[in-house]
Amino acid sequence: MKINIIKSKGIEMTEHKTRFDIIIQKLRDNGHKITPQRLAIVKIIAQSEGHPSVEDIYDQLRNAFPTMSLATVYRNIITIKSLGEVLELGFPDGSNRYDGHKPYPHPHVICIKCKKIVDPDLDSLDEMEKEVASETKFKILNHRLDFFGICSECMANQH
Ligand code: ZN
Ligand code: MN
Repeated sequence: MKINIIKSKGIEMTEHKTRFDIIIQKLRDNGHKITPQRLAIVKIIAQSEGHPSVEDIYDQLRNAFPTMSLATVYRNIITIKSLGEVLELGFPDGSNRYDGHKPYPHPHVICIKCKKIVDPDLDSLDEMEKEVASETKFKILNHRLDFFGICSECMANQH
């Protein structure tokens, strides 16, 4: 079977594998058992709709898994993070958010009112990274680029 490898920002994604498949495989390869709880957590983190917090994930799953604790969700996220399969967006107030759909560094736009986080598609990012490297003579390994503002829904609700 021929599989085309698409290289994107250092992450190899095959056409046949979803983020969910990739994270589950990585967990298996590293000797982690795939429990129903873990499967459900990976399902949410693989989509990362809205960049959920640990509490968001817990809230989504507490009905399906009444015995599961917040600490269990947290431990699972830490495990997935240690495998490099989820991007952690840390904030000074401790309200960390997670993106398992795009686990590599990428810019974010954050609504200061409703805390919505979205991924903008920026053409100028590669250019900016090259400029930073040549300007500072640093070898750039990583970046963190956040834009803060008020989303269109929150703007509409102000009136
Ligand atoms: Zn908003
Ligand atoms: Mn993101």
